[in-house]
Amino acid sequence: MIIVSEATCREVMTAADAFVAVEAVFAAMARGDAYNFPVIREAIGHADALYGFKSGFDRAGLSLGLKSGGYWPGNAAKGLTNHQSTIFLFDPDTGSLRALVGGNYLTAVRTAAASSVSIAHLARQESKVLGMVGAGHQAPFQLRAAAAQRNFDKVLAWNLHPQKLQSLQQVADELGLPFESVEREQLAAESDVIITITSAHEALLQQGWLKPGMHIACMGTDTAGKQELDPLIFASGSVFTDEVAQSVSIGEAQHAVAAGLLQAADITPMGAVINGTHPGRRSDDEITVFDGTGVGLQDLAVASAGARLALERGLAQEVSL
Ligand code: NAD
Repeated sequence: MIIVSEATCREVMTAADAFVAVEAVFAAMARGDAYNFPVIREAIGHADALYGFKSGFDRAGLSLGLKSGGYWPGNAAKGLTNHQSTIFLFDPDTGSLRALVGGNYLTAVRTAAASSVSIAHLARQESKVLGMVGAGHQAPFQLRAAAAQRNFDKVLAWNLHPQKLQSLQQVADELGLPFESVEREQLAAESDVIITITSAHEALLQQGWLKPGMHIACMGTDTAGKQELDPLIFASGSVFTDEVAQSVSIGEAQHAVAAGLLQAADITPMGAVINGTHPGRRSDDEITVFDGTGVGLQDLAVASAGARLALERGLAQEVSL
């Protein structure tokens, strides 16, 4: 078996590689070739931690395994990332452990790949203004990946604490994109594509503020109770997701479903658009929403790609159990 360290993942795995891996696994999920197993997530009663597993099998990409990890709120004070995860890959023919792959960097990269896949398939080609809501750990990865999908000429951004926008400004500067800190209402009125990536528990964008024809990738809500959008947005737009079962239970759609504005049958798996069995955006005025909840198969897809790239470059550490 091999070990692929966090440092090696950073060295070998690009946003472009992650895009290819995540797009392929979304397509496999929609064809029924890949499925996620039930998620386990528990408060362990120690260190205030939430710990769990996300797992699945992709019969097309031959990725079998799990991501194990969670959230340790006291880690920052110890100089560690609060979110901690490790990905285990198994040989689907024998069940033997094939690889242990650091999951922290890959989680950010696969989450950014999910929103960028949605932008690639759903945003209008002529989208020019990218709006960012949130400036935490994930946000710079999101901005970088999104910027590769359309010819944006400006970034508008909002964060609860505006001083934290510096990390996004830095990425925009690197990409040569003008950057402006604005209020949410202006961001909603002027953006062609918006990414929300916060841990908010209330609607940050109201339906009445939105510009017709925009695409929203709503990425922060991955737990019951979190919320970023006005549920009315779901009633007036077309809704897409990574996995419908997660979207209605722990994703952003949970609120529109609870309000009786949306049903599971109204939500389209992103893979159906990738496979061409759903047309995706139907008009230039339509608002499209991608509810990115984060599935285990995304983790397995990027970890498999990372393991392959590390082996090719002689950077994987071989060990025997
Ligand atoms: P972080 O803790 O580094 O940043 C949190 C962000 O949320 C900051 O911008 C903060 O200002 C903002 N925020 C917190 N409370 C808020 C409030 N009440 N109103 C408005 N903004 C608020 O977290 P992160 O690692 O950047 O993750 C952001 C969110 O994305 C989290 O909810 C996380 O669970 C989620 N996430 C989702 C996926 C997925 O696959 N969909 C993957 C990773 C993380």
